[in-house]
Amino acid sequence: MATPPIYPGTTADPDPSTARDRAWLEVDEEALRYNAAALHARARVPLLPMVKANAYGLGAVATCRTLGVAFRDQPQAADQSPWGVGVATLDEAAQLRDAGCEGRILCSTPLRPEELARAASVGVRPALHRAEDIAFWSTMGGPGWHLAIDTGMARAGVRWTDVASLRDAVAAHPPEGVFTHFHSADESVASMDDQDGRFQAALSQLADVLPAGVIEHRDNSGAIASREAGSPGQLARPGIALYAGMFAEALGLRQVAHLRARIVDIRHVEAGESVSYGATWRASGLCRVATLAIGYADGYRRHLSNAGVVLIHGVRCPVVGRVTMDMTMVDVSHLPCAVGDVATVIGADGSDVLTTEWVADRGGVSPYELLVGLTMRVPMLRRPAIT
Ligand SMILES: *Cc1c(COP(=O)(O)O)cnc(C)c1O
Repeated sequence: MATPPIYPGTTADPDPSTARDRAWLEVDEEALRYNAAALHARARVPLLPMVKANAYGLGAVATCRTLGVAFRDQPQAADQSPWGVGVATLDEAAQLRDAGCEGRILCSTPLRPEELARAASVGVRPALHRAEDIAFWSTMGGPGWHLAIDTGMARAGVRWTDVASLRDAVAAHPPEGVFTHFHSADESVASMDDQDGRFQAALSQLADVLPAGVIEHRDNSGAIASREAGSPGQLARPGIALYAGMFAEALGLRQVAHLRARIVDIRHVEAGESVSYGATWRASGLCRVATLAIGYADGYRRHLSNAGVVLIHGVRCPVVGRVTMDMTMVDVSHLPCAVGDVATVIGADGSDVLTTEWVADRGGVSPYELLVGLTMRVPMLRRPAIT
C-alpha cells in the first residue's frame, strides 16, 4: 500500500522513524472532524464529545485539538466546535489541562467529596447529586456543576423519583446543566421514551428552581442515532459514534482507527500440520502462512483466534490458529506478499474496510472494548486524511 504522510500522535509521541516498524495505529483526523460534523448536524445541538478513556483509545489531547477545542496555543474553532468535552476521571481532565486545554470539561462520573477540591483546581465541571456536595462545591470557586439524574440506568445520579429532595440545594446553588444517561438507546426506542418521560417529570419538579438558561443534555451515540428529529435539550454527548465504533453505516460515518502490522515471517505449512498454541487450526492442504507482528498484548484480542480477518494489499486473509501475545498468523496462500508488507487489522486498505464494529463482532467483544483495549505498545500516529 502507498505510504501517505503521518504526524506523530501527541499522546504517545512515538518516533516517526521507528513507529511503523512493527504494529501501529493510525488515527484519521479528517474522519474525526467529519464524524463530529455529521453528528452535530443530526443532533442539531452543539456536542459535548466524550473523550474519556483517552478518547476511547484514540488519544484524548489530539482528539480535542482535532475537534477544535480551545488550547493555550489554539483558539476555539469558530463554527461547530464542541461546547466542551466529557471525561470520566480527574486524571483525564488534568492530562488535558497539562496539555494546555482551555475548553470546558465535564466529569460525568460521581466524585467523592474528597475529590472536589481537585476538581475545582483543575477547572472541571462535576456531575453532582447530593445536597451536601452541591453546597460544598459552591464554596470552592470552581466552574458550574451539572445535576446528574438517574432515569433507569441505576448507575449514578439522583433517582428521578427523588429529585424533590434537592430542591433547596438547587435553588440555593443553581446548576449550569442537568443531564441523564440512556441504558439502551440503540436497542429499544421504547426504553428511551421511558427515560425521556422520567427525565421530563424530574425536570418539571425542579422547574421553579432551575435557572432559565440551564443546559439540558441526554443523548449518547445510540440516542443520536435513534432520533430523527434531533436531540432534545442544548447538548448531545456522543462517544463511540464519533470514533466510528458503532452506527458508522447507519449514519454514514467514516472509519477513524486504522490498525496496521508488518509481516515479519512467512512459511509453508503442509496438509495436516497445525499453526500456533493448542494446535487449534490445521492446514487442509499446502498453505502459505504469514506471521504478523501484532498480538493480544497490543490489543488484538485473543478472541479473534481462528475468527479474525486482515487485509493485505487490499485482499482479505483469515487469522489461522490462536492469536498469541506478540504475533498472529494469517493464511496468505492466495496472495503474493513478503516480509515487511503491511497488514491492516482494523480499518481501510485499498477499497475494502474492516470496520471497528465488524472486527469487534468477529472477536465477540464490543467495539468499545476493542478500541479502549489497544495498548501502550502500539504507537499512535495521526493522519490528516485516509481515504
Ligand atoms: C460514555 C458516556 C457517553 C457516551 O456514550 P457512547 O455510547 O459512547 O456514545 C455519554 N454520556 C455519558 C454519561 C457517558 O458515560
